[in-house]
Amino acid sequence: MKNLLLRHVRRWGDPVQDILIREGHIAAIGTDLSGGPGIKEIEGNGAIALPGLVDAHTHMDKTRLGLPWRPHSAGPTIKDKVDNERSIRREEGHDPAVQSANQVRLALSKGTTAIRTHVDVAPDLGLKHVMGVLETREAFKDVIDIEIVAFPQQGLINTPGTAELMQAAIEAGADHIGGIDPSLIERDPVEHINVIFAIADRNGVGIDIHLHEPGELGAFSIELIAERTQSLGMQGKIVISHGFCMGAISEGRLQHLIDLLVENDIAIMTHAPGGSPFPPILKLRQRGVRVCSGNDGIQGAWSPYGTADMLERAFLLGYRSNYLKDQHIEEMLRICTQGGASVMGLGGHSISVGNPANIVLVEGASVAEVVTAHRPRNLVISKGRIVAENGVYTN
Ligand SMILES: [Zn+2]
Repeated sequence: MKNLLLRHVRRWGDPVQDILIREGHIAAIGTDLSGGPGIKEIEGNGAIALPGLVDAHTHMDKTRLGLPWRPHSAGPTIKDKVDNERSIRREEGHDPAVQSANQVRLALSKGTTAIRTHVDVAPDLGLKHVMGVLETREAFKDVIDIEIVAFPQQGLINTPGTAELMQAAIEAGADHIGGIDPSLIERDPVEHINVIFAIADRNGVGIDIHLHEPGELGAFSIELIAERTQSLGMQGKIVISHGFCMGAISEGRLQHLIDLLVENDIAIMTHAPGGSPFPPILKLRQRGVRVCSGNDGIQGAWSPYGTADMLERAFLLGYRSNYLKDQHIEEMLRICTQGGASVMGLGGHSISVGNPANIVLVEGASVAEVVTAHRPRNLVISKGRIVAENGVYTN
């Protein structure tokens, strides 16, 4: 690992300064810092230095990155998509280790230095996908933090054997328990919540639940999740991913749900989906709800979209919400850096002396312009190592 001196860069809101990196950490920040023997100097030319981007919700076991383009072929229902994905996996001999590694390299090239990924667990897969992503996590452990959520894509009440596999996934190295639409997919909301909370509580891990349910159905699920979080004392360990219902209910019901999130420190993940309502991000932030974001699935059987770029995701959060002021656009970027870091329990996720050196250099007149233009990253440093230059993975 080289010691690095970044010359003439601008931290978020700061004038031009130098940043000295030693042994993977930020050793000094100031003007005219001295280099010295063994220190590689890099001219920043006034670029903005951002903390590492955090993709707090993706599915890196599912991506088809690196494979020939395939036109989208799934039908409209969830079952159509699950069946379509299964048949494509069989046909292509899908290798989750190879595919997840492809996504990690692309994500690093875009400045992402931490990822939370949901990984399919189901009787027809066993732990194949978990083991593949664990292999990728080990291979890239020096340059990126990866958290694994054991994800019951097909449900676990209606797919016997899945709950046992989720316990086995935790024992194999997964970090958290996933869940999915307790009513719409499982049709047994209380039992679904019972099972995922029991596994998480028994193992002392968190929960990150996919909740696509609309309107009052989704609101009911959030109430169940909040009740169980409170009764088990799991405040601060629960994430609700998507929470579409919060984007299309009455103001009174919304405020009630936000109260429950605040009381139980339940975080919300939104990726500003196409075609669905989604939570009012600034309303949540103004009440102090932790919010993170992610790319969700990238170029897989579920959707042809996704570039692994969390600056583009910050753009989409602001664009779809119609937030136009600089301070609101900046808040979208905070969600894609510190918001994700908070959910992943990564302390010290800012460019400050003593913190790990996770730094992204990108050109822009201001932070808001960096988000709207999301140009290629000039330089990406993760855990003190240069991992990408001029938009290309180099590690
Ligand atoms: Zn997802």
